[in-house]
Amino acid sequence: MKKIVQPIGCILLGAPGSGKGTQAKIISNLFRIPHVSTGDALRSEIAKKSQLGLKVSKVLAAGELVSDELVDAIVASRLAQSDAASGYILDGYPRNIAQANELGRILSSLNYPVPAAVYIELPENELLRRILGRLSCSKCGSIFHQVFNAPKTSMICDNCGTALMQRKDDTEQTVKTRLSVYRQETAPLLSFYKQSGRLITVNGLQAISEITRNIETALRFER
Ligand code: ADP
Ligand code: AMP
Repeated sequence: MKKIVQPIGCILLGAPGSGKGTQAKIISNLFRIPHVSTGDALRSEIAKKSQLGLKVSKVLAAGELVSDELVDAIVASRLAQSDAASGYILDGYPRNIAQANELGRILSSLNYPVPAAVYIELPENELLRRILGRLSCSKCGSIFHQVFNAPKTSMICDNCGTALMQRKDDTEQTVKTRLSVYRQETAPLLSFYKQSGRLITVNGLQAISEITRNIETALRFER
């Protein structure tokens, strides 16, 4: 008998610095499903100095949210690509209730099943330490930390050898704004997804590999 494999749809929730990008990259490789990060998509437009990039760069630098229409369009077009039909992992979207409602419309128009929402929970003092020590590779997108997940050679990406950098919005001042935006706009998504019975909470204080194990088990069980 042919085994029917259900697609894996996953929304990663959590405050800035909770480990969404780190986990999304690992889970994306593990299940061979695309990692859809609105933050990465916007940073790539900024790096290209495209019209869109020029329009949003100040918003990102200030730690505010860009318009819903803009990110809704990015996600709709990425999820419509054929590789997303077998699953996807959303990182950084949705970020407010309006985006969550729009995501529901996008998924049903594509006939995709209801996704699982995985919340990586982390106390605020830890978020700050994570963000202020974050190192990113502008070429391949790998994420490191100066102390908790240090690259083998200082400031060099293990994966592609490119010099690592700190994100422009990873400053103490911008982090304050981002956390306040998170509390006001994004945290209400936890009860939104809890109501649909698809919210899985994972302890973000664990080691990266342990968190991956929790998410993987939850996603396999949820299918
Ligand atoms: P987010 O995408 O939610 O903003 P990241 O995945 O970029 O968060 O992680 C933020 C920082 O925390 C990075 O420097 C990353 O290396 C580090 N990090 C991620 N997960 C863990 C973990 N479980 N333990 C310690 N550090 C972590
Ligand atoms: P992230 O990489 O998820 O930390 O996002 C970095 C920045 O990109 C945020 O602080 C916002 O300015 C912008 N951004 C990313 N995703 C969204 C979204 N879904 N809605 C609005 N703005 C977003």
